[in-house]
Amino acid sequence: MYDYLIVGAGLFGSVFACEAAKRGKSCLAIDRRSHIAGNIYTEDVKGIQVHRYGAHIFHTNDKPIWDYINNFAEFNNYINSPVARYKDELYNLPFNMNTFNRMWGVKTPAEAQAIIKKQRAETGIKKPRNLEEQALFLAGRDIYTKLIKGYTEKQWGMDCRELPAFIIKRLPIRFVYDNNYFNDRFQGIPFGGYTRIIEKMLAGIEVRLNTDYFDFIKRNPHAAAKTVYTGAIDEFFGYKYGALEYRSLRFETEELPVENYQGNAVVNYTGSEVPYTRIIEHKHFEFGRQPDTIITREYPAAWERSLEPYYPVNNDKNNELYEKYKTLAEERGDMIFGGRLGQYKYLDMDKVIAAALDAVTLL
Ligand code: FAD
Ligand code: UDP
Repeated sequence: MYDYLIVGAGLFGSVFACEAAKRGKSCLAIDRRSHIAGNIYTEDVKGIQVHRYGAHIFHTNDKPIWDYINNFAEFNNYINSPVARYKDELYNLPFNMNTFNRMWGVKTPAEAQAIIKKQRAETGIKKPRNLEEQALFLAGRDIYTKLIKGYTEKQWGMDCRELPAFIIKRLPIRFVYDNNYFNDRFQGIPFGGYTRIIEKMLAGIEVRLNTDYFDFIKRNPHAAAKTVYTGAIDEFFGYKYGALEYRSLRFETEELPVENYQGNAVVNYTGSEVPYTRIIEHKHFEFGRQPDTIITREYPAAWERSLEPYYPVNNDKNNELYEKYKTLAEERGDMIFGGRLGQYKYLDMDKVIAAALDAVTLL
């Protein structure tokens, strides 16, 4: 019997396993996928680290978390600066003076602010109640129409008026010429990829892949004293109160015999006429100079039970339903639910690490 059965060898499960093992606990990690690392899995193809589940850029404001992850990898100085393509127009992201200059020809912050103020006044919005109103309020109608509406409705498969405002607050809007997508103090891509980080975290820990919890636990009901569960919380409870909503993705990856396909790691396609949301060219995360390149198109997809639930849809309806599952979870003294699916929360990697470290301090 192990002290901990860890369901999911993604970031949460691996940080937890690593720290629990350091404290002398015995752990068994299982994952239904054929590889470790969950959604941060990267794979070396011809010397290029391919982000198999979409672009992953590590960024944080939290110095202890930055120090923690640096124990497992050295990071390069990549700064995420996506380009947005709307029909034949190209704009810098996040919304900054370069974007405003391209959109309106303005050169100073005062000119840009005046246009946004005028467009905001025209909408009459005082207190934004949903994503559309929040976006119009923050950035005005032109930016909303060309850079937000199409992308967001593709990404979430919903009208912007039905989506919560907080999603768009993730994107900075600033009146300086600065294309850094994040406001955080620390940022980069790990040399050697993310999988290597997880390998280091799981060194010395027994891992069984292609192992689904529900089959495993039927055969081994007494495998561990406690279980750390990083899969979907509603699935764990057999969808007892109904399924939470998720958004899925389809990744289409292609090797191309060209050195440089799009000149940037991330190009977002913000119009509704293009079915994918973005193309990533993996080598640019590491300033690669290989003769060939690898690109991935990311297509949003409706979630159904046979597909990966990549994004929780944190609107009021789902958050209320999640609270019911959380109450059930809290009644289980032998379980810890963690990670993006266990906590049903849009968590970046730094927040996942912080949550796993918090869970360990309770041991
Ligand atoms: P996961 O990585 O999902 O791990 C959970 C694991 O549990 C999976 O491997 C799964 O197979 C396994 N599992 C589930 N159920 C079972 C079961 N019943 N039995 C066995 N195994 C099971 N974060 C950033 O900080 N920066 C970014 O740039 C960024 N970009 C992202 C882009 C995309 C497209 C997505 C989807 C996420 C992005 N994230 C980013 C978030 C990041 O992926 C997460 O914070 C992180 O991967 C969460 O780790 P986790 O361990 O909670 O979940
Ligand atoms: N977004 C947008 N246009 C863009 C990029 C993002 O409207 O070109 C919106 C969209 O609603 C998205 C949200 O901003 O869901 C957050 O974007 P982020 O890049 O943080 O999403 P993630 O990388 O987590 O998918």
